[in-house]
Amino acid sequence: MPLPANLVLAELHVHVGSAVDPAVMWSIAHTQGIKLPTKDYWEFVDLITVPGQKVKTFDQYLQLFYMTELIQSSPAAMESSVYAIIGGGYRKNRIGVLELRFNPMKRNREGERDLDHIIAAAARGMERACMEYPVRAGLILCLDKAFSVATNQVIVEKAIAHRNHGVVGVDMAGPETPGFSFREYRDMMRMARDAGLGVTVHAGESGTPEAMQECVETLEPHRVGHGVKAVGRPELLDMVRERGILLEVCPTSNLSTGVIKSPEEMASTLGVLIESGVRFSFNTDGPEMLCRSLREEIDLLIEGGVITVEQAVRCNEWALEHTFVPGARPRQHVQV
Ligand SMILES: [Zn+2]
Repeated sequence: MPLPANLVLAELHVHVGSAVDPAVMWSIAHTQGIKLPTKDYWEFVDLITVPGQKVKTFDQYLQLFYMTELIQSSPAAMESSVYAIIGGGYRKNRIGVLELRFNPMKRNREGERDLDHIIAAAARGMERACMEYPVRAGLILCLDKAFSVATNQVIVEKAIAHRNHGVVGVDMAGPETPGFSFREYRDMMRMARDAGLGVTVHAGESGTPEAMQECVETLEPHRVGHGVKAVGRPELLDMVRERGILLEVCPTSNLSTGVIKSPEEMASTLGVLIESGVRFSFNTDGPEMLCRSLREEIDLLIEGGVITVEQAVRCNEWALEHTFVPGARPRQHVQV
């Protein structure tokens, strides 16, 4: 039995760079006059999507964002992108609570564009879509682990400046490069929390469980993006549960990037999380790039006997409880 069709879903972990329908990206690219590496639409789709297990490593996956972020590097492109994601998510999947994340500095052509215009345009696209569909949405600004601390500080300051205009949180994304340390961001993340922003951090994905533990202890995030590497460390799972941290689990993404090696490993990982009492929610990370929508993601796990419908509904309730979007309470309660 799949998820009830009328269940309104919440999705907390979606990157703008991997969530726009390729047809919309194609149109935006042409409107912006961007010189694409191909004039063939299907070759373009192939460039920005990875159905199945096409990418083999986490780094290869991150490289796909070069093209999508280039296309989205203007205020008009960001407005169209965010507008398209929210409307599409509601029409295709009945997603009624949606958090979208992006790094504004990867959308400003090396400083050529103004960050405030990029962020405000994303908020405009969000507002337009939320006028058309019964969706509550919020924007999360991503810092990048490969950026300097000073550069990331600017992004946090922008998130705080726009917190009453659509921005609801901050995230830290990107690869954990040598020399990177969560510890250096203790004060910055505290500043974001004190300003009323939600804090989520990519950890326990491509990085080690030790780094995830450092992240939890030093940054005190409200949520952790992925966090699946915690399953081998009972003390870390205890810490996550005791601190009331929600893990934003992205099964297809983890399988595509090789962070989790097989569907069997994913099943056992989710089994450990359920057993440990840690709260988690299901997410796509990037539904268009990875060619898997949230509803498909969850239904596949149910069909495979990995989770029950009741567990999936509970995870959706947890997403609604842990969203950074203000006032995003469930609009209906589905009995299953
Ligand atoms: Zn992510």
